[in-house]
Amino acid sequence: MWTSRFLRIAVSVGLCAAAAAGCGQGGAGRSAGSGTGPAAASPYAAMPGPSPAWFRAAGGPGGAVRSVEADRLVEPARPAAEPGRPGALAGPPVAGPGAVQGRAGAEPAPEPGSGAAAPRTAYLTFDDGPSGLTPQVLSILRRENIRATFFVTGSGVEQHRELIQQMAAEGHVLGNHTYSHDYRLYRSEAAFMEDVHKLDRALQELTGSATELLRFPGGSNTRLGRAKGSPWMLPRLVKRVREEGYQYFDWNVSSTDAAQAVQPKEEIVGAVLYAAANKNNAIVLMHDARGKITTVEALPEVIRGLRELGFRFEVLHKDSRAVHFLE
Ligand SMILES: [Zn+2]
Repeated sequence: MWTSRFLRIAVSVGLCAAAAAGCGQGGAGRSAGSGTGPAAASPYAAMPGPSPAWFRAAGGPGGAVRSVEADRLVEPARPAAEPGRPGALAGPPVAGPGAVQGRAGAEPAPEPGSGAAAPRTAYLTFDDGPSGLTPQVLSILRRENIRATFFVTGSGVEQHRELIQQMAAEGHVLGNHTYSHDYRLYRSEAAFMEDVHKLDRALQELTGSATELLRFPGGSNTRLGRAKGSPWMLPRLVKRVREEGYQYFDWNVSSTDAAQAVQPKEEIVGAVLYAAANKNNAIVLMHDARGKITTVEALPEVIRGLRELGFRFEVLHKDSRAVHFLE
């Protein structure tokens, strides 16, 4: 069943785009929004025609048809600057059963009329930073009184040491996204772990504490990762990082902001709200990497839309309900 499972997962998630500095993950969790439950009260879930622009952009009725050709990704040489991720395609709808651990992926919406609304929790996560755009992200989060989780890489940490300290001081949570974000790390368990430890040392130096949170470059089932290693490398690494005390987090809501170099703002807003509409726990993948200006532009609308859907915002902790592609 490995083959079919891998295929299903690969199809459901989309893949990390190539450039070593970035994920081009597509749309895990782009399942159709439920029309029931608290979401039904929201314009984002009810989806009456004509469809709002973001919904069409997200692939809803009349919208763009999503490709499933995530495997066309080609990994270029690592550039000095983080480029866009051409070739990374947004994922298709609906993760198959088992693609998401726990209840986070396909939860039933609370029953309407059942009294107090069930809490809906969104975890905003930003990968591949920090970058020169991160101060804008932090400013928006401060204005909205929201804390987020940042899965940072070594280049961002080294270039923006003050931002790492600012994030920690402002209550955001830092996670390990490996130091180099280089898919060649998937060739060697020892090399991968050394890269993880290298970033942890940098975070420890800057903040006084290491992190217990980890996100694999490309997610835990990235085809690029498997291509660079072996089919068994990622399962081995999952076991290893757990043995070392980390919890790793994939996501069940992709903003699709890495699907191309500059993803339209409306696409980002639509993708998040469309995928989150039928979830009670939304781990939202975004990027604060260099060049991701439309992510910054989309963020206020993403936050507003999630609030309209009834979400409150939390940071990830080691014991947070995790989304795992690979299990
Ligand atoms: Zn990444």
